[in-house]
Amino acid sequence: MKTIYLRRTLLNRCPRCGKGPVLKNLFHRFEECSECKLVYSREDGFFIGGIPISYGLICLLWIIPLLIAWSLDWLARDWFLGLCFGGAFALPILSYRYCQCLWLGLYFVFAEHEMPEEGEDSV
Ligand SMILES: [Zn+2]
Repeated sequence: MKTIYLRRTLLNRCPRCGKGPVLKNLFHRFEECSECKLVYSREDGFFIGGIPISYGLICLLWIIPLLIAWSLDWLARDWFLGLCFGGAFALPILSYRYCQCLWLGLYFVFAEHEMPEEGEDSV
């Protein structure tokens, strides 16, 4: 298990070479690495794997802290509901591409044998 793939994608770098960026900006992703030409999408629908990562991160980093704050009376109910619904709308949009980047790294952590060597056909 090579966790280097995940560490590279956490920093928005290609999982194979660690040089080229995966994300162009918050809303767009490159199709292949600018350095080693690794095609990021492994098959049709590959990046749907970013959805459960986005969901998990939002629950862990947004919903659970809000629930704790509300249950301890640190947040009024109206603020709690507003932050929950606002986060439920905005955070998936803001985090989706980055979560696709994380999915790419996680994929190669667990499917290391599918990482093509440089110069091989990338898909
Ligand atoms: Zn690369």
